[in-house]
Amino acid sequence: MEILIKDCCVVPMTGRGEGDGWFRGCVGISGNRIAMAQPGTECAGEFLASHPGARVIDGRGKVLMPGLINAHCHAPMTLMRGYADDIPLMRWLNDYIWPFEARLDRSDVELGARLGIAEMLLGGVTTFVDMYWYEASVARAVADTGIRAVVCPSFVDGNFARFEEDVRELSGWLRDCGRLTMMVAPHAPYSCSKEHLLRGGEIAREHGCGINIHIAETTDEQTEIERRTGVSPVRYIDGLGLIDGRTLAVHGVWLSDDDIEILRRRGATVVHNPQSNMKISSGAAPVAKLLERGVNVALGTDGPCSNNDLDMWEEMRSAAFLQKLSCGNPCVLPAFEVLRMATVNGARAIGLGDRLGRIEEGMLADVLLVDMRKPHLSPCNDVIANLVYCAKSSDVDCVVVDGRIVVENGRLCGTDVAALCEAVARRTGEIKARCADR
Ligand SMILES: [Zn+2]
Repeated sequence: MEILIKDCCVVPMTGRGEGDGWFRGCVGISGNRIAMAQPGTECAGEFLASHPGARVIDGRGKVLMPGLINAHCHAPMTLMRGYADDIPLMRWLNDYIWPFEARLDRSDVELGARLGIAEMLLGGVTTFVDMYWYEASVARAVADTGIRAVVCPSFVDGNFARFEEDVRELSGWLRDCGRLTMMVAPHAPYSCSKEHLLRGGEIAREHGCGINIHIAETTDEQTEIERRTGVSPVRYIDGLGLIDGRTLAVHGVWLSDDDIEILRRRGATVVHNPQSNMKISSGAAPVAKLLERGVNVALGTDGPCSNNDLDMWEEMRSAAFLQKLSCGNPCVLPAFEVLRMATVNGARAIGLGDRLGRIEEGMLADVLLVDMRKPHLSPCNDVIANLVYCAKSSDVDCVVVDGRIVVENGRLCGTDVAALCEAVARRTGEIKARCADR
């Protein structure tokens, strides 16, 4: 498909945000790539002359930017949204989350993933990194809906055989859907034995993929791992050979200078999930310090049980505000840096930094349009500040993934969202009833 989006404000994310944050111009898409991104209006005519059948979208009053990359979530957990909140962690897990999850089958995981994907696409997320089990069911939802994803089959001690089966089941999907890649996801240093962590590392190497792991999330984890191994969670996992340039170190709230140096030296990415960290009282990750030391930091929502949504606009705002509060300094993590975390840094995190996350000729055509003609976005004294500090998911007007329009006029193409929500409500009602029966 060929698409021309004309007369829009383009935020290409190619510069450093100092006077080069945006330009007024046109963007042309051919196949699944950005074929043209130029300032001015003349380029529109030139693009149409060489692509006469292109679909033309009027971008007046709108901002075009790279699609958002949610670098950490558990999309199927949308089924448990609002099921149990404001409860101490262990009671929350033992009495609610684990009994509910024990009753999920493959079709439930797919249903939850479809709900999560609908929410993310409508909010301008074009790529997500998912950590769960039955990831082949998530892959099916990804292939159908048109979003891009990194599917990460996860394991803890006790379900390693299912993880190995998940990896096998994914191979066909990875071969057939160009929007899918895989990572191996040990749940956390405290929930996986050393043997399973090492075997997970071998499987990742066999498949040429990286490791995605929750790490340094809480002080309890730090105490437990230091008691067991004598070193910090990051040093322990690094010692097992699991940290390299493809590793996603999710959370990274409690990091010493030594831990940060290990992550920097290995070229790993820290995925920051500020709303989850606040909601379950984990703490504030040292994001400004990580960036200053040269560590790549991406942004994620985490699961809908600890957030409770998959809204990357809220996540951007929370990242900025939490960092300013925890550092006692309003200058840290400025708006452009946050926008980079949700686009450029996310692309680099998943190994697509040369193809994704920027509006440039030759890049994959994952873009979104934000309708700026709203009271809360007016006046537009600073485009970047309005995007990061004011914009909402509901302002997303159009979304293109891999050159295909998936959201238009704020509506999801090809999905009956009301019917999807009804199906989810019916199924969660059944699962809750079975949890109550036990
Ligand atoms: Zn998580």
